[in-house]
Amino acid sequence: MAKIRTSYFCQNCGAESAKWIGKCPSCGEWNTYVEEVIQKEENGRGNWQQGTDRTKKASKPKKLQEISDEKSPRLVTHDQELDRVLGGGIVPGSLILIGGEPGIGKSTLMLQVALMLKGTTVLYVSGEESESQIKMRADRMHLKSDNCYILSETNTQLIFQQIEALEPHLLVLDSIQTLHSKHVESTAGSVSQVRECTAEIMKFAKETGTPVFLIGHITKDGAIAGPKILEHMVDTVLQFEGDQHLSYRILRTSKNRFGSTNELGIYEMRAEGLREVSNPSEILLTQREETLNGVAIGAMLEGNRPLLIEIQSLVSPATYGTPQRTSTGYDSKRLNMLLAVLEKRGGMKLGQQDVFLNIAGGLRVDDPALDLAVCASLISSYEDIPVPDLICFAGEVGLGGEIRAVNRIENRIAEANKLGFKKIMVSKYAIKGLDLKKFEIGILPVTKLEEMYQQLFG
Ligand SMILES: [Zn+2]
Repeated sequence: MAKIRTSYFCQNCGAESAKWIGKCPSCGEWNTYVEEVIQKEENGRGNWQQGTDRTKKASKPKKLQEISDEKSPRLVTHDQELDRVLGGGIVPGSLILIGGEPGIGKSTLMLQVALMLKGTTVLYVSGEESESQIKMRADRMHLKSDNCYILSETNTQLIFQQIEALEPHLLVLDSIQTLHSKHVESTAGSVSQVRECTAEIMKFAKETGTPVFLIGHITKDGAIAGPKILEHMVDTVLQFEGDQHLSYRILRTSKNRFGSTNELGIYEMRAEGLREVSNPSEILLTQREETLNGVAIGAMLEGNRPLLIEIQSLVSPATYGTPQRTSTGYDSKRLNMLLAVLEKRGGMKLGQQDVFLNIAGGLRVDDPALDLAVCASLISSYEDIPVPDLICFAGEVGLGGEIRAVNRIENRIAEANKLGFKKIMVSKYAIKGLDLKKFEIGILPVTKLEEMYQQLFG
């Protein structure tokens, strides 16, 4: 019999220690160590195909030229947003973690993907919901599949038994926090369990070439519950986010071994499931009849995709002493910098004004090309003059009030053109040498904030 052993684990980063310590030497957090019982079986930690234990040939070094360059084809889902975020479909044998707050729709997304994959055997394992609950969810989506198997189970060894019998092409595990392995004694969701289960699943994925989606819940401060080590172990980390009260959901990558991390997928949550939003600008721009003060449209890039996004601001005299500066979806330091530039270079008296800035659609943005639109929106609210209709902006604002060129300006102009904008204001330096005749949209080149002010509000 193995003797019972306990160890202390940092709940933040997963570092292990034989004794309790107040401050984690690995991540620097205080009071994060919790004692967990770990009991390891003496006969090795093999789990996936433990009994067979094939003698593997040791790998030999190969010349680079000798390695065959045949790429194993990616599994393409019927979800174009997901495929793009993953970098062009699912890589065989990859372990993909999808994190998000409880109730945001991770299970819905995964079930939808599983049901839409025709001709591919999918095993959907849930420790969160019963089989009948999943059936009801699938019925609401009006989706049917002959190849999607549902299993309600949390023990990894029992799950692997079913996998061996079924040999699925894709495995979905909902969620990592409910899984437990018999090789570790502590409760499901604890650091040692999460680590052990992930290692077992990783081994399975790599040895069989089966891609695995692992759902993970996120804690209040935005980290995936369980240790950071989880994010290091997997190949790809997807974040599914959005406001529970809004219908839009955003899928983004924070890590991807097989593609870029800049891509973004947008979905609309409906009663029957998630709808892909292939033209996100249509939802990020409010359709309205009259123009409003404090609203400006910026042309930004998210990954390779240009997006037009609505920026709203409210500048009003501070009534309660210290003026407030609040921004939602936009870096507050950047906002303060732009306010200082407007004060110094534009002569606006902002010291006694409350300033609220909001990015529509619940998006978080950090493209400096939005500076010009943010400034236009602030000036519009301050002066109580609306920004003229059907005009948008793409330019970075420097500390001297100069408008700087931003990258890939042609893509931004093309997107604004496509969406029917009449004019786009850009840095004069950005359009040198560009052939702009192909666009119907009018270009307003500016070099300074003053010129923008004169053209729009003067
Ligand atoms: Zn730590």
